[in-house]
Amino acid sequence: MEEDLSIIICQLVDYLMPELTPYETALYLYLFRNSFLKNGNGEIQVGKRTIAAEFGRGARGEKSSYAHVSKYLNILEEKGCIKVNDITSKGTMYTVNLPKDIPLVFDKITRPSTQNSDADYFTDPEKRKEIFQRDDWVCQYCGDKVTPESATLDHYIPQSKGGKNTKDNLKTSCLICNSIKCDKTYEEAAQLLLKNIQERNSKIHK
Ligand SMILES: [Zn+2]
Repeated sequence: MEEDLSIIICQLVDYLMPELTPYETALYLYLFRNSFLKNGNGEIQVGKRTIAAEFGRGARGEKSSYAHVSKYLNILEEKGCIKVNDITSKGTMYTVNLPKDIPLVFDKITRPSTQNSDADYFTDPEKRKEIFQRDDWVCQYCGDKVTPESATLDHYIPQSKGGKNTKDNLKTSCLICNSIKCDKTYEEAAQLLLKNIQERNSKIHK
């Protein structure tokens, strides 16, 4: 199997399992185990009666019924987890999809969690304070202490270059450093910031 198993398991746990009932998860894993882990690909040929016999003994130890298995195989197909192919004398051919190839999972992987990325840490006063506290009320460029009156937030990646009001992109900054960095990237501003810090230090030591 080319895919890294640990990535598959993470995607399964983080993205797929919340979308499935425990029974559906177990049935998916049964098919996964008998396809990818056995042959290295998603193809599996198995009769529903075999699945019913081998898999899913209920809490009281009774076998899953044929009808029960059929119902949940259909649900897994509706959710895009498997594809039910031709029926042959040896059983039905199934294609088991890897978590990343299941639309429900694919959407979550490609769309970053809206919960955190939508939070506006720049304009919300409470959230601004969270950043200042995270940075210990210290300017992240020159190391000077800032106060609630002098503290500003700098967009590490400038807004003009697509930087967002996210926690990761905001740094506590003193007024001077913020006015120097302005809408430059850190690489562009680094020399100017350093020069200013040296000037300020030499004034203090005079
Ligand atoms: Zn500063």
